[in-house]
Amino acid sequence: MRITPWLYMVGSRQFGLSSRYDCHVYAMKRDAGILLIDAGSGMGHGRIVQNLRDEFGDLSRGTILVTHKHPDHACGAARLHEELGWPIVTSSHTAPLLISGDEDDCGLAEAQRLGSYPPEMRMDAVPVARAFADGDVLALEGFDLTAIHVRGHSADSFVFWMPGFQCLVSADVVFYGGVIGLINTADSSMNGFRTGLAKLEGLDVECLLPGHGMFTLEGGGFHIRKALEEVRKGLIPRCVGQGDLIF
Ligand SMILES: [Zn+2]
Repeated sequence: MRITPWLYMVGSRQFGLSSRYDCHVYAMKRDAGILLIDAGSGMGHGRIVQNLRDEFGDLSRGTILVTHKHPDHACGAARLHEELGWPIVTSSHTAPLLISGDEDDCGLAEAQRLGSYPPEMRMDAVPVARAFADGDVLALEGFDLTAIHVRGHSADSFVFWMPGFQCLVSADVVFYGGVIGLINTADSSMNGFRTGLAKLEGLDVECLLPGHGMFTLEGGGFHIRKALEEVRKGLIPRCVGQGDLIF
């Protein structure tokens, strides 16, 4: 699904583009290769590859950027890497988990016990070509992205600021409407948002690309400020852990 000349969505449960367990999978394309934002659940990787093929034809060059460890974003990394041969780039926090295929640490084992994910879903080990740290500027397939570590949704969550496009890839940290990704897991914490969201203040965001729900090409900063203002007032913003139907 083409969104702009440089931005596409090639996987998503909510837009019906791939498996019902997939987050939004964005594809960015300039002159160089294709930058894939997140890998989905691995349950719909065939449809993601087909969507990529339909949009771009030539899939000889690309990179897969994984925003955080959760199964709907990361479990597809191994299968997409195997099928496309594209390198995996993720943070130094997420890399060990992808390299080992740790189904406990990513939350897959517990989610399967709770019935949220099917038993056949797997976190297969996959090599990581590059592991970045907070503040690193990544030059990937013609795009420059600054990696910003914002704890709160998970301890390893990163967002990515693309100043050339006034675009923030917000993953599961902050969503349209100022909804935050606070969930009931061991490493999701309001304290992470209290300290982390402030790092997004001052970014002149127009395009906001969350991992679920609505995205927008204009006025993205409004949604970030809304969440930040509520946190600063000592409130807990609307969050996915309260059953918000964003996933
Ligand atoms: Zn997540």
